[in-house]
Amino acid sequence: MDWDGLRRELGDWYERVRRDLPWRRTRDPYAIWVSEVMLQQTRVKTVIPYYERFLERFPDVAVLAGADLQAVYKLWEGLGYYSRARHLHAAAGMIMAQMGGRVPSDPQVLRRLPGIGDYIAAAVLSIAFDQPFAVVDGNVKRVLARVFLMETPVNHPPGHARFQTVADRLLDREQPGRHNQALMELGALVCTPKRPLCPQCPWTAHCRALQSGAVPDFPRRVKPRRPGEQFWVAGAVLKKGRLLLTRRPDRGLLAGLWEFPCDRMDGAADPAADCAAMVRRQVGLHCAPPQHLVTVRHAYTHFKLRMALYLCPWQGGRVRLDGPDHFDWVRPDQLDRLPLHGAVHKALPALLQALRGQ
Ligand code: SF4
Repeated sequence: MDWDGLRRELGDWYERVRRDLPWRRTRDPYAIWVSEVMLQQTRVKTVIPYYERFLERFPDVAVLAGADLQAVYKLWEGLGYYSRARHLHAAAGMIMAQMGGRVPSDPQVLRRLPGIGDYIAAAVLSIAFDQPFAVVDGNVKRVLARVFLMETPVNHPPGHARFQTVADRLLDREQPGRHNQALMELGALVCTPKRPLCPQCPWTAHCRALQSGAVPDFPRRVKPRRPGEQFWVAGAVLKKGRLLLTRRPDRGLLAGLWEFPCDRMDGAADPAADCAAMVRRQVGLHCAPPQHLVTVRHAYTHFKLRMALYLCPWQGGRVRLDGPDHFDWVRPDQLDRLPLHGAVHKALPALLQALRGQ
């Protein structure tokens, strides 16, 4: 394989076609770190407005570290994978407390920060600090699998090291940041998952999949297990024009996000009655028979959710002292001030419509 030719042709191609993205206009390690965290599992087009709002509100590590986590969640709302926001915030705190307020350029130190794994570390170190670390994400794996006709499945963690070895060998050590971005750009714009645009590719002369007519067969994948669907019942308790919202714990599923009292009830025979009992059990309130408003579906990272939302008119009782750690009675027009999780968001229009009709 002509490694020098691959590097040169990739770099030249990138200089010609690169997209002008906001995080490519800076060498600030903090801004690059934020962009890479947001870009994990999320499309560029979606990330741009979030990135711009985030940098405007939290322009540097110090401001982010001093911010309330709820404010960070609020700005992250809709981007999903909220643990990324929590880790970013916690890491900013560590940088201020232990690292003199500067994003570390030492790989060992950087990797100690929460949420920074191989990929983010390599991206920040190469793009912001010109250090020779190769990034390997889904785009990179797909391109490498095709160019080098690699049989290793791209979605099987034990195979990751093989892709890393090839990416390390391929890395342009003179311009590692540009090289990494170019390889990811190639995967995003040309060597796409379906119908790659091979005639526009700078590597047509090298690509083994193209030469052997095997492009549709690569990359290889192992069949993933389908995530099961959970059924949740949620009760929007209405008291004197306000709705009861509770906040999920700071660790675990959908950590720190707000929702209506809810519980998993796979196979519930009478969800309305179960909803009233759940509200009593969880928050200690009595309500009139719940009225079904809507059932929504939402796909989270590790599971799919079907959630039935009920309107529960308050009839008596106070929120139990040993109930939720955080709760609030919120006016319907103020619901969008809280960071809500995706299923709650989807159910809101039906709730607001029902309240308008009362
Ligand atoms: S020639 Fe086609 S399959 Fe090969 S790397 Fe380029 S776009 Fe991908």
